[in-house]
Amino acid sequence: MSNPINKVQVICRIRPFLSHEKPDESVVIENETTIRVQNHRDPTKDVNFMFDACYSSKISQEEVYRSKIKELVESVFHGQSATIFCYGVTGAGKTFTIQGDDVNPGIIPRALNQIFANAKRNGGNSQIKISYYEVFKENLYDLLREGDNGPGLPIRVDANRKTFIAGLKEVLINSFDEFRRMYASSVKKRHTASTRLNKNSSRSHAVLVINISFIDRKTNKTIQGKLNLIDLAGSEDNRKTDNNRERMKESTAINQSLFVLGKVIEALNSGASRIPYRDSKMTRILQDSLGGGSKSMMIVNVAPGETFLPDTHKTLNYATKTK
Ligand code: ADP
Ligand code: MG
Repeated sequence: MSNPINKVQVICRIRPFLSHEKPDESVVIENETTIRVQNHRDPTKDVNFMFDACYSSKISQEEVYRSKIKELVESVFHGQSATIFCYGVTGAGKTFTIQGDDVNPGIIPRALNQIFANAKRNGGNSQIKISYYEVFKENLYDLLREGDNGPGLPIRVDANRKTFIAGLKEVLINSFDEFRRMYASSVKKRHTASTRLNKNSSRSHAVLVINISFIDRKTNKTIQGKLNLIDLAGSEDNRKTDNNRERMKESTAINQSLFVLGKVIEALNSGASRIPYRDSKMTRILQDSLGGGSKSMMIVNVAPGETFLPDTHKTLNYATKTK
């Protein structure tokens, strides 16, 4: 049986101005699927970009979740795998969107809430397992494991030709509260590890994996679903501003993995026969949850102001090419 091929949806979210920013509105919503980047000096140079959906700065976390994410999380309980990425430059709102804060919870806590509510409805036979890792310079680090990961975890292929990260910890979680505690401590770990390796967490991709399995009471079959929630590294090109050799290498590796991700999504959405999954570690690992029958979505975060414009243009060109 061949699965239907699902496109990767690409949606754009503009964040509001922050209190210290000059409100020189440069990115605006034209209509439900188009944003316009304004050139204040020469309006003939305004550029439009098309997406599957666009969210203005007024759209709340709740509205983002309800509009598209909820059904995607629901599909995991029907045995789907799904992946959501947040893409954009540092400061554009990726972490706010995927994780949020205590006052404005983002996709991760909302998804876990929904998952535990569904699990309860299923009558308590669901197993929910979590992994959390970081991809930095093409190396994989476990965020749930105490201590150092040394040079990083290797990728292996099992007897069923499934690609996996060898030694990655997987934790069985029984409640939303349990998840919250575990997540909070691993986020802290991400920051301390960053400091130790003398890197900034905006330079790594953080991948939260939620594996769900339960026995369908009607059919007695085991249903397995998987959800990846990914806070991508900042898409800015650090090579311009940073002459440090190590930083240059980092930047090349980071931009390379974002470049490959863009190529993979572009190939999937254009119906190409060769998808370059193997060209970066992250896309290799995500292969079974990206394209094919799985449901994926890239949320492109952009800042509204003029100071971000050069990066905004690059972000939008990258993102709309994948459509
Ligand atoms: P990134 O992760 O892309 O570097 P952040 O998510 O940290 O960016 O966002 C940068 C700042 O903007 C943070 O202070 C964050 O709270 C704020 N912010 C981002 N998006 C929104 C939003 N939609 N509404 C309100 N504040 C936001
Ligand atoms: Mg961030």
